[in-house]
Amino acid sequence: MTAMNVVTFRPPKGCRGEGGPDYQGNFRKGELRGIIHINKDNCVGCDTCRKFCPVDAIDGGLGAIHTIRDDACVSCGQCLTACPFAAIEQMSFVDEVIAALDDPKKFVVAHPSPAVRVALTEEFGAKPGELCTEQLLNALEKAGFEVYDVNQTADQTILEEGTEFIKKVRYWLLGERNDEVNMMAHHPLPHFTSCCPGWVRNMEINYASAIPHVSTTKSPVQMGGALAKTWAAKHVWNKDPRDIVMVAVTPCTAKIYEASRPEFIDAWKWNVKNGELPKDTPVFPDIDYSLTTRDIAEVFRRKGINPLAMPKTYETKTMGKYTGAGTIFGCSGGVMEAALRTAYFILSGEELKNPDIISVRGLDKALIEATIPIPLKAKNGEIFELRVAIVNGALQELDKVMRIINEDKNRWHFIEVMNCPGGCVNGGGQPLQGAGSSWLRSSEPLPLKL
Ligand code: SF4
Ligand code: SF4
Ligand code: SF4
Repeated sequence: MTAMNVVTFRPPKGCRGEGGPDYQGNFRKGELRGIIHINKDNCVGCDTCRKFCPVDAIDGGLGAIHTIRDDACVSCGQCLTACPFAAIEQMSFVDEVIAALDDPKKFVVAHPSPAVRVALTEEFGAKPGELCTEQLLNALEKAGFEVYDVNQTADQTILEEGTEFIKKVRYWLLGERNDEVNMMAHHPLPHFTSCCPGWVRNMEINYASAIPHVSTTKSPVQMGGALAKTWAAKHVWNKDPRDIVMVAVTPCTAKIYEASRPEFIDAWKWNVKNGELPKDTPVFPDIDYSLTTRDIAEVFRRKGINPLAMPKTYETKTMGKYTGAGTIFGCSGGVMEAALRTAYFILSGEELKNPDIISVRGLDKALIEATIPIPLKAKNGEIFELRVAIVNGALQELDKVMRIINEDKNRWHFIEVMNCPGGCVNGGGQPLQGAGSSWLRSSEPLPLKL
């Protein structure tokens, strides 16, 4: 079965708050709002979407036309994947990306996330879950993109996030005081992951007391945007950063919002500060556009490219090298597993004998707890029991975790949060095979027989 189509809409006038005050509701000027909306002409009031929203951002009762409250919405698209009537639509930048590809002055870079490669070919008739890495990369190049793999920046995220966590352990648990770790006095345990923009926005709106606990590390996509227009522009591609158009290709509708956050202009800042660009260079974002898996399928369709017809071999270039740690970011527990491998190595001085930390995996559980024993090099092999939790896709479980932390900050040292059930593989930008693809996590049975 070929994946269902999702209706998309062009960014409407004023969707970034142009010409308005610095803040509108809880959006800053420049931030995209209304990325996911309900088409009132198609909504039949079945109430399914409300059961899948992780932040209770949808208003409406049975039989009534439903609406999304933009200030509460984290743009995750879970309602869209659940709606049985294709009444929920997504803002899309496909036209802008096609125009950039057709512009000979532009160097357009695709930045594909791990979870896209297990889903894209569903849009072209393949079975769900088929891995199509090389076909995806070849199709991107055929469409005119340069490829910069997000798996590479996911590796870098782990280096940053894992190192930050270890500094917290050294400061808070091992009692070290020195210039390397003293700033962690302001960043207490438990340490939270920061790579999911749905979780980050949810945390900012609903759990602001967690802000000091959340890793300061950017998401892999944003890390890639900054690196592409600085280091890669200079040392790999020999391009003027102003000519580079960075296109994130992700399973995630929340990444569309993330790309618009005004703080993500680090490449512009670095280039101007270091004299690579004139001081009066207009500000440009690290990531220009974020496309979902469904959007990139649309780009391929418009360009007459069928990824299934692409070769299954691909010659990896500098910006496409990565380890297995970057790849497992796409599913719940993956970020934690990758970070734990790094933490174990640094704290114990040894590689894990078996890098598969199975206790943190589990697509079908909304909350997982695990304890990882680590022999501490700094304490002659004394065992430190690292307690971790993994939360994905469930409002109730996240609330529970936050309640527990408020009472006992020592219950866990490290917590991974992914907004979508099972993590990004089930993101709101993935192909749809039918209504209610997130049904496993619904707290109630669907009201309709599908
Ligand atoms: S699931 Fe779709 S049709 Fe049903 S209430 Fe929500 S938007 Fe309307
Ligand atoms: S996009 Fe996510 S947060 Fe927004 S209404 Fe839909 S399910 Fe809720
Ligand atoms: S879990 Fe993944 S797909 Fe879902 S909101 Fe977070 S980053 Fe996006």
